[in-house]
Amino acid sequence: MIAHTPTLFACVALVATIMAFCLILVGQFNRRDGLLTIGSGLLAHALAYVGYTLYGHAPLWLTYGAANTLLSVALAFYGASLFRIVELPVPWWRVFAPMVLMLVSMVGLIDTLEPRMLAATLVLMVQCTLIIYWTCCFIPARGRARMLLIIGSSISLIGLGMRVVAILGGGAAEMRYDVSNLKQTISVSIGTFTAMMISLGLVLLSKERSESMLQRLALRDVLTGILNRRAILEQFSRELERSRREGSFLAVAMVDIDHFKQINDVHGHLAGDEVICHCVNHLTRRLRQSDSIGRYGGEEFLLLLPDTGPEGAVAVLDDVRASLVDSPARYGETRIELRISIGVCCVVPGERDTTASLLARADAALYEAKDLGRNTLRMAPAGFQRSDARTRDRSQTLSG
Ligand code: GH3
Ligand code: MG
Ligand code: MG
Repeated sequence: MIAHTPTLFACVALVATIMAFCLILVGQFNRRDGLLTIGSGLLAHALAYVGYTLYGHAPLWLTYGAANTLLSVALAFYGASLFRIVELPVPWWRVFAPMVLMLVSMVGLIDTLEPRMLAATLVLMVQCTLIIYWTCCFIPARGRARMLLIIGSSISLIGLGMRVVAILGGGAAEMRYDVSNLKQTISVSIGTFTAMMISLGLVLLSKERSESMLQRLALRDVLTGILNRRAILEQFSRELERSRREGSFLAVAMVDIDHFKQINDVHGHLAGDEVICHCVNHLTRRLRQSDSIGRYGGEEFLLLLPDTGPEGAVAVLDDVRASLVDSPARYGETRIELRISIGVCCVVPGERDTTASLLARADAALYEAKDLGRNTLRMAPAGFQRSDARTRDRSQTLSG
C-alpha cells in the first residue's frame, strides 16, 4: 500500500506533538526523571515532521535544512535523557555535536540533492549508533527498556541504511519528501515506528529506574545501605530453606557494638552514625559474595554465612572482631575505638529449626559474650547435626 507521504508526515507530527505535551506536562513535576527531556525531544521531532509536511510548499532551508536539524536535535535530546534517567552527568557537547554537524552540512549543501540527502542520513545514523552505544554502556542488562531502545535504534539504522543505498543507487529523486511511492512509505513508516519505540523505551527506562529506587528504599537500611531488618529476615528464610534442602551448614551470627551508648554520649549521635557505618564496612569487606549482612536493630547486625561450619565461622568472625580492635572509626579529626561482641549459631538445619529458633540461639550466645566481658565471640551449643552435612572449609573460600 502506498501512502500519501505528506499526510504520513502530518500524522507523525500530530502524534509526536500529543506525546510531547503529555511528557512535558508530567515531566514538569519531577525534572530528574528525564521525562521533560524526552518530551523536548518529541517536540523537536514533531516540528521536524511539520517541516517535512510542508516540503515543496515552503523554502527548502525550512522544509529540509531546519527540519533535519530539528530531527537531529530530537535524537540529541533522546541521548541526553538516557543520561538524565540513569542520573549521570549529560555530556552535552558529545550529545549535540552531530546536530551541529547536521546544521553545518545543511547550510553548505542545501542547494544540492544527493550530497545533502546523504549528509543528513549519515548524521542521523551516527546519532542512532550513539544511542545504541550509550544504552549498552549505561543501562543495566536486565529490563525491557534496554531491549526497546536497542531494537528501536537498530531498526532505525536499517531504515536509514536503506535510504543511503537508494540514494547511492541513483534513486535520490524518488526519496524526496513530496514523492509518494512504496520506498517512501516503508522508509517513513520505519522512521515513525522507531521514533515511537525509542521514546517509549526511554519512558519505560524512567519507570524501571523509579521502581528499582522504590525497591531499594523498601529493602535497604537508609544509614548503611545494607539490607534492613525485613529484608535480612526474608533472606534468612530463603537461606534456611536452601541449607535444609542441600543438607549444608548455615552459620547465623548476631553482632552488637559494645557500649555504643557511651560512644553516642561522648562523641554525639552523628559520630555514632559514623561508627555504625565503619563497623558495617569492616564486616562487609570480610564477607564472601554469598554471605549476607543486614541491620537487625540500632547497632546490631545479622550475618548469614551459608556453607560454613563451626570452625570456619569462628575463624572468620573472630578475625573480624579482632581486626576491628585495630581499626578505629574516624569522625573528623577524632579516632573512635570500637569493639564488637558476636553470638553465633551454626547448624545443618533440621525440620524443627526455624528462623526464630536459630535467632534465639544466636542471641543467647551474644548475651553470653556480653556477660563474659564483651569484645568476644560465643558459639551457641551444638544441637543435632545431620551427619551427611556438606560443607566447604570457609578459610579456603574466603577472599582476602
Ligand atoms: P552493650 O555493650 O550492652 O551492647 O551496650 P550498648 O550501649 O551498646 O547498648 P544499648 O542498647 O544500651 O544502647 C544502644 C544505643 O544505640 C541506644 C540508641 O540510642 C543507639 N542507637 C540506635 N540506633 C542508632 C543510630 O542509628 N545512630 C546512633 N547514633 N545511635 C543509635
Ligand atoms: Mg551494643
Ligand atoms: Mg544492642
